[in-house]
Amino acid sequence: MSIKVINKIDELRETLKELRCESKSIGLVPTMGCLHAGHKSLIEKAHSLADITVVSVFVNPIQFCPGEDYDKYPRTLDDDKIAAESSGADIIFAPSVNEMYPNLQKFSDLTMVVPPYELTDIMCGKSRVGHFDGVETVVTKLFNIVQPDIACFGMKDIQQLFLIKKMVKDLNIPVEIISCPLVREASGLALSSRNKYLSDEDKKIALSLNKALNAIKQGYEIGIKDTKKLFDIGLTNLNKNVELEYLEFVNESNFRHTDEINKATICALAARVGNVRLIDNIVIEV
Ligand code: AMP
Repeated sequence: MSIKVINKIDELRETLKELRCESKSIGLVPTMGCLHAGHKSLIEKAHSLADITVVSVFVNPIQFCPGEDYDKYPRTLDDDKIAAESSGADIIFAPSVNEMYPNLQKFSDLTMVVPPYELTDIMCGKSRVGHFDGVETVVTKLFNIVQPDIACFGMKDIQQLFLIKKMVKDLNIPVEIISCPLVREASGLALSSRNKYLSDEDKKIALSLNKALNAIKQGYEIGIKDTKKLFDIGLTNLNKNVELEYLEFVNESNFRHTDEINKATICALAARVGNVRLIDNIVIEV
């Protein structure tokens, strides 16, 4: 069966209803498109776990803050179709903004899903105020539309992954969240749709993000547990043209800041290279 592109919620529901009647299990991979090898790994994982794999491609306006790149975010549906199909997807769900939010002009009228403040007042949530409200709202809508058995999310967006797992638990949403490893270029740069904006020179500068995280991990491995000291090691490894937004250490289990690494810890950062905001992280196992 060649991949089917569906733009309408009702049509997707109808199609999935029939498949469910045939006892097919459904996997969902939510994306904003411009698919790369990171997305493809999620699609392959969903395909290995479920009978039918749905990839949503939707640049979600309500998760962008004022001044961010919503308008210029790359939209490459024809290429996405090929990438999704070659990774095992059966359906691409690519709704319009109007299909997802028929009344977006009246944003204040929209029911939102809001994660706990304590978990969004750190890392990406601190500078991108309201971002995770937009993410949780669209993901909840996608879960309600698709009703998947499983849904795959990447560890690239580690705060998002934690919040979605928590949301599903807190709101009793019947879907299993599958965490998928962060995929990097051979150079070490974390794959991102936004890498398209980077010049060759920017890419070289951006490599120091991964270098800094690796240096932190090595620092821990030679016995440094104090996260302030590890923070300094990270800083000295960042290229001077990187504008650091944050470099934070949180316990993997509860996403709370930690001063000392004595449990599995996530070290995550966001930084600007030129005008491009990039994120990366590393898990320090204890
Ligand atoms: P996005 O299209 O950026 O919203 O990402 C859609 C999904 O792909 C999210 O679950 C991301 O975490 C995941 N993803 C994006 N980049 C990568 C990557 N380099 N490695 C693994 N997963 C990724």
